Amino acid sequence: MKKRKKRRIANPLRFAVGIALIILILLICIVMIAAIAGCFDAPDPVAEAPAETPAPTAAPTSSPSPTPEPTWEEQRLSSIEHYVRAYGNCPDEAAVSARMATMAIDPQQKMVAFTFDDGPRTGITNQILDIAEEYGVRVTFFIKGDNIASHEEELMRMLSLGCEIGNHTWMHTNVEELSASEMRDEIGKVNDAIRDRFGYPIRLFRPPYIKYGDKGSDTRNTLVSLMEEWNMAIINHTRSTHDTYDSYNAERIYQRGVLETDELGKSLDGSIILCHDKQQKTVDAFKKIVPELLSRGYQFVTVSELLHYSDDGFHAGWIYSSAN
Ligand SMILES: [Zn+2]
Repeated sequence: MKKRKKRRIANPLRFAVGIALIILILLICIVMIAAIAGCFDAPDPVAEAPAETPAPTAAPTSSPSPTPEPTWEEQRLSSIEHYVRAYGNCPDEAAVSARMATMAIDPQQKMVAFTFDDGPRTGITNQILDIAEEYGVRVTFFIKGDNIASHEEELMRMLSLGCEIGNHTWMHTNVEELSASEMRDEIGKVNDAIRDRFGYPIRLFRPPYIKYGDKGSDTRNTLVSLMEEWNMAIINHTRSTHDTYDSYNAERIYQRGVLETDELGKSLDGSIILCHDKQQKTVDAFKKIVPELLSRGYQFVTVSELLHYSDDGFHAGWIYSSAN
């Protein structure tokens, strides 16, 4: 009896505990299934990321458009006019306009770039500039840095005539014999001196003796890196007038200067011609070369002008011997 009574009391308890266990197991199963299904995963960061910032709407058409960058030609003329006014000894606006009228370039017309190395030299460079001024033509001077201080007047006159100043090292040094740091110093000093004195950025380098290292050499690689760093190009030449040869008098220099096609088949149009402003015979030859080539329809332009209108254009670090 006792036993049975006890059993009666125990049965409902066991039943309740059993039900509770079943419910608990069911709950655990639900939680596990939900976990496996990913219901409790961390929120997807992409899905939770805020929506992208909407793109700004286009500026209203009524607002003023930004001033367009000046073109190369506008910058060229603006720079020349600056030096015409600064150093051109122009007494009035009419004189400025008359000087600026000689700076026009017709890209369709034949072009030639005469270059003069090693100056400025007293008594010679000014005669070249006299010819340039008389005919309204432009040439390029590859100067030696150690000439700058003693020839500022010639340099100012070059700029006021639209002529170009290029770099020919400070001491006329063969750059193949220089270390990288010496090369930086020997070329960089010329750029710095001209920029400091005249605010003029040199863009061209002509290596003395036309020596700039073989392709792949340390000299060439260093030089090209410097040119790229300084936004400059290396300028060789299409033809030399041989004006440093003893056997070349003014007549022979003139004949080389006006040859339509040289011995290598290179045409004068688009050529870079090598001369030196250090001897009278070169001046005498140039006096005849200019009117002769003008009569044949040539324009005398600077090397940078020639390269700008060439097929490739100007590129820092490039080596040019002509525009073709
Ligand atoms: Zn030289």
